[in-house]
Amino acid sequence: MTESILTDSTLTLPGGTWPTLEPGWVWLCGAGPGDPGLMTLHAIHALRQADAIVYDALVSPLILEWARPEAEQIYAGKRGGKPSAKQADISLQLVDLAHAGKRVLRLKGGDPFVFGRGGEEAQTLIQHGVNVRIVPGISAGIGGLAYAGIPVTHRDVNQSVTFVTGHDQRGETPDTLDWDALNRASGVLVIYMGMKHAPTIQKGLLDAGRPKDEPVAVVSQATTPNQQVLETTLGAMVDDIAANHMEPPAIICIGRSVLMRQVLDWQALARGETPRNLDPLGRGKPAEER
Ligand code: SAH
Repeated sequence: MTESILTDSTLTLPGGTWPTLEPGWVWLCGAGPGDPGLMTLHAIHALRQADAIVYDALVSPLILEWARPEAEQIYAGKRGGKPSAKQADISLQLVDLAHAGKRVLRLKGGDPFVFGRGGEEAQTLIQHGVNVRIVPGISAGIGGLAYAGIPVTHRDVNQSVTFVTGHDQRGETPDTLDWDALNRASGVLVIYMGMKHAPTIQKGLLDAGRPKDEPVAVVSQATTPNQQVLETTLGAMVDDIAANHMEPPAIICIGRSVLMRQVLDWQALARGETPRNLDPLGRGKPAEER
């Protein structure tokens, strides 16, 4: 067991000891959506121990400042369905590093098992006899929305939430997406990798009967200093994305929970702004009264 990496020596892991990243192991860790403060303690701990760090495009460079100076940092970026490193190559590189006796950290944006191919990489590692630990992270579709003041569930809005990918392996909107079913099943849809195919998503949902005035938020570079939030509607989203020069990475949230931003935009409140609407869902009574 190693000591906590955190300088405050009083901070030990309650009820146990920190797991150690051992030679020959790969830890597959989520780095969260961007803000380094949203990393988990296990992920930072791994960063402070790793000999080799294989990281994605969506991992903030700030986070890598926690690495040991002698650690090998390997970029395995992929963006927008355009593979710059083949998935098989990345997975096998992790196997090689582990077999070479390195302490390997595989760092992925958000959560490694949410639209992050973490399942595939872990499976390859295990198939090659490599020991693996999975460290979940805060996914952009939850934490990124929270930074925009949008609760992914709200009792007055939705009893379920659906996470959707706008890209399949070919970079197309997946044919398997059943927009009728998605529309019927879910008050709130959270779409990852949806920017390129926003027109297809918009058409699919409108054709399925979703109203044009359904609230939509597009949150780009969530939790970073460059976070941008666009509030729009399903009918206007494609035009508004272009007019506001919104760029990926971005989460598209479709549903009435977006309205809650009118009261919960805590970053605006922190800048001294006043809430736009204290009761955006029109409940007519205080939030604590059910
Ligand atoms: N495993 C990641 C998702 C990887 S897929 C997670 O759990 O968050 C990549 C997509 O995630 C991007 O196209 C975008 O839709 C979303 N994404 C990741 N980081 C983001 C961020 N900081 N802001 C907005 N969207 C983000």
